[in-house]
Amino acid sequence: MSDDAPTPEVVRAEVQAWVATGWDRSLSLREWRERLVDAGWAVPSWPREWHGRGLPPWADDVVRREIQRGGAVATVPAGLAGPTILEQGPDLARERFLRPLLTGEEVWCQLFSEPSAGSDLAGLTTTAVLDGDEWVVNGQKVWNTSAHHADLGMLLARTDWDAPKHQGITYFVLPMKQPGVEVRPLRQMNFHASFNEVFLTDARIPKDWVVGEVNKGWTAALATLAHERHFGALGRARFDGLDEGPALDQARSEAAEIAKVYAWYPQRAGRVDLVVDHARTRGRHHDPLVRQEIARLLSMHRASEWTAERARAARATGRPPGPEGSIGKLALSHVARQAARVHALIGGAGAMLAGTDPHSPLDGLLAEILVSVPAQSIAGGTDEIQRNILGERSLGLPREPDPAKGLPYREARNG
Ligand SMILES: Cc1cc2nc3c(=O)[nH]c(=O)nc-3n(C[C@H](O)[C@H](O)[C@H](O)COP(=O)(O)OP(=O)(O)OC[C@H]3O[C@@H](n4cnc5c(N)ncnc54)[C@H](O)[C@@H]3O)c2cc1C
Repeated sequence: MSDDAPTPEVVRAEVQAWVATGWDRSLSLREWRERLVDAGWAVPSWPREWHGRGLPPWADDVVRREIQRGGAVATVPAGLAGPTILEQGPDLARERFLRPLLTGEEVWCQLFSEPSAGSDLAGLTTTAVLDGDEWVVNGQKVWNTSAHHADLGMLLARTDWDAPKHQGITYFVLPMKQPGVEVRPLRQMNFHASFNEVFLTDARIPKDWVVGEVNKGWTAALATLAHERHFGALGRARFDGLDEGPALDQARSEAAEIAKVYAWYPQRAGRVDLVVDHARTRGRHHDPLVRQEIARLLSMHRASEWTAERARAARATGRPPGPEGSIGKLALSHVARQAARVHALIGGAGAMLAGTDPHSPLDGLLAEILVSVPAQSIAGGTDEIQRNILGERSLGLPREPDPAKGLPYREARNG
């Protein structure tokens, strides 16, 4: 942070003064967010030329809290697309996409994974070919969260089959609402349907809707993945104590819509918060084995929160995402698995009963925890991949052998 950067107290006072005059409870959510973006308070850590105030990264949290303290609705999180486009550009993309993302006018999804390219993401085969002023895209994506209601997709597609695996990929912005894009929801084993298959058949993308540079999409993809590891658990929107009015009503319905997709995410993280009460209700809190496993869980959970805090502190000083992203993500998987184990130990065979059964512990939540926890170790890069990243990039171990290295991808794939 430079010496002339303002202190949190100065920023707090400034945003309080602005909210006192800028907030008006009769505004619609869109009008309010436009005011926030115009004033640079939506994401104050972004540069002034891109809707921010050039403040240090800690300012985003400080400002969000002050806006809510002033009775107003806070801004939408910039998600993964926002920071990627901000970092990778070009200006044309920053100009076109950042503002509607911050006002919430355009909802995004991530179109990276394919049926045979998940961990080996650079092995993707969805192909984009330039045809006049448009790219024409064919292929299939899978596991795409929110694709069923997204306006735009962060799409990785191969644009040069004669370049080596990682070098012929381009990062596009795909308009989702068009005839060439077919989105089919997938039903999960916990009965939710938060992600989809996306079939692309001659889908069209304007020539300039590229993030970074053509054939250099891997660099931009790595930026998105690094942010994804840091994304962590999704916080619930908080509206207590805010001023009633159109903006709050619309923010509540927007949050309810988002909650439909993410309702099972707390269960996916293991519901550590319920463990002690669960043991008490079932009369298992005196059992030494249960107590020992709960103690193990709570210490792992506390350590994982400290890791997350360490990552937040690093970000607040402006450090780019580092190994604590992979460490933190692995820790969340360990905690989720241990939580599921402890809940099952407490619940016994009843843990297998679904929510519809009157004897199901925690009103069916326990069964949902057990079938949702495995996703924690997969989404955003599996545990094994996080270990590979740590081994290779942090511990300096030899890299995984890559038989396709340096070969034109067309040849590597055939061979
Ligand atoms: C809840 C959830 C939400 C998701 N949302 C999205 C989304 O919005 N957009 C999107 O594009 N994708 C999304 N995904 C997909 C996710 O990114 C992939 O599932 C993930 O990257 C793993 O890829 P895969 O499923 O193809 O498994 P695979 O890559 O086939 O892996 C299978 C197994 O092999 C192991 N393995 C593979 N390669 C190696 C290796 N080199 N070394 C050691 N072990 C290895 C893996 O760890 C895993 O255990 C989501 C997934 C989940 C669960």
